[in-house]
Amino acid sequence: MKEFDVIIVGGGLAGSALATGLAQSGKRVALVEAFEPKADSRPSFDDRTLVVNAASLNILTNLGILDETLTTCPLRHIEISRAGAPGHLSLRSAEHGCDRFGAVIVARELGAAMLRRLEAVSGLQSFCPEKLVRVEADDERVTIELDSGTRLTGRLLVGADGTNSTVRRLAGIDSQRYDYGQSALIFNVRCPRRPADTAWERFTPVGPLAFLPQPGDRLGVVWIDRSAAIEAALVLDDYELIERLETRSGRTPGGFASPGRRARYPLALTRTPRPFARRIALVGNAANTVHPVSAQGFNLGLRDVAALIDHAGHAGDPGKPGVLAAWFGDRQEDQAATVRYTDTLARAFSSPSSVVRMGTGLGLFAHAAMPALSRRLVRAAMGFREPISSLAGERAR
Ligand SMILES: Cc1cc2nc3c(=O)[nH]c(=O)nc-3n(C[C@H](O)[C@H](O)[C@H](O)COP(=O)(O)OP(=O)(O)OC[C@H]3O[C@@H](n4cnc5c(N)ncnc54)[C@H](O)[C@@H]3O)c2cc1C
Repeated sequence: MKEFDVIIVGGGLAGSALATGLAQSGKRVALVEAFEPKADSRPSFDDRTLVVNAASLNILTNLGILDETLTTCPLRHIEISRAGAPGHLSLRSAEHGCDRFGAVIVARELGAAMLRRLEAVSGLQSFCPEKLVRVEADDERVTIELDSGTRLTGRLLVGADGTNSTVRRLAGIDSQRYDYGQSALIFNVRCPRRPADTAWERFTPVGPLAFLPQPGDRLGVVWIDRSAAIEAALVLDDYELIERLETRSGRTPGGFASPGRRARYPLALTRTPRPFARRIALVGNAANTVHPVSAQGFNLGLRDVAALIDHAGHAGDPGKPGVLAAWFGDRQEDQAATVRYTDTLARAFSSPSSVVRMGTGLGLFAHAAMPALSRRLVRAAMGFREPISSLAGERAR
């Protein structure tokens, strides 16, 4: 049986970042992943255009993941509008005393950068392709079995294995699921006149539509609607798709053309109120999978990861009950607040009641009229919620 300090199941965005940080802290780490280590084959490393906020950029920089090869598009300006309502909320990073709110990074490219970093760190052993099939935990250690029959033992097991987490199920950790009845359609389009550092988000009665800057003259589109409407949009020809996009966006940022490959994601909330058990912790989507309405999922998961590196990376016994309780103590409020915020927005904009939609719309626009409130909201959206982990801290860069 092979022995480690920490075993991580799931080598997606959350698990790869955690493995890097714990190995950098000197821990002996096992990383178990079901898919081959080619960026193209992993579900986590796909065509999604991720808004990575400023705190997450600090974390990725400090983990050595943001290297020269990785293309990132800085985000300095955000425009938020609502279909059928006049005016819009405009946020500029300079007015909030920062160079950028964050950056847009294609998940596939971030995944490739993570794989490069994982190859460079020492103290890490990958088990891939392998799947977790059994877990046993006692007061001293946790032992797992993989589908090849290989057995691994460690002081801490971390489930970074996504929404349908096997670790969560085998450990008997309770979670709740709510299906939004919506899906996200993602693809990119050419938009030659787009400003390079601006993101647009438009709320409509059936769901939000976002345009995110990508390298060259392309924009990443995240189009959320009822699942049946997204199914129908998947089979439109390119001309019809562009026509729908122009109608839906209300204000065309500069003429769209040449839509790329389309992918669809059904949307549901998975909430795990206590994401840990004896010698086991859950991070990323395995703990909380949130609606992409405000681009928080990966950012939230990365804050879980950074806090776990702070607590477990420096502990003699990283799976001790006190270590996991202290970690969750730091994360509990942020997890609850982020889930509450994204869920409220997602339900309000998909609610058939226009009263609910109106209330949320006014709430959003009120931030523009109250600079102090807006500043607080912006700082939280940039990922700086107390307590801030050492990897996310502004001085750490
Ligand atoms: C349309 C859309 C847009 C989004 N945009 C943003 C955004 O702009 N900003 C943002 O912060 N977030 C965004 N998100 C959320 C973000 O994509 C996720 O939060 C993030 O990808 C989750 O990563 P993860 O590593 O936790 O989980 P996953 O990506 O699901 O990775 C889990 C990994 O575990 C592996 N695995 C699963 N089971 C096993 C097993 N039994 N044994 C071994 N390995 C296993 C899988 O193969 C996979 O590699 C978006 C999501 C969607 C759907």
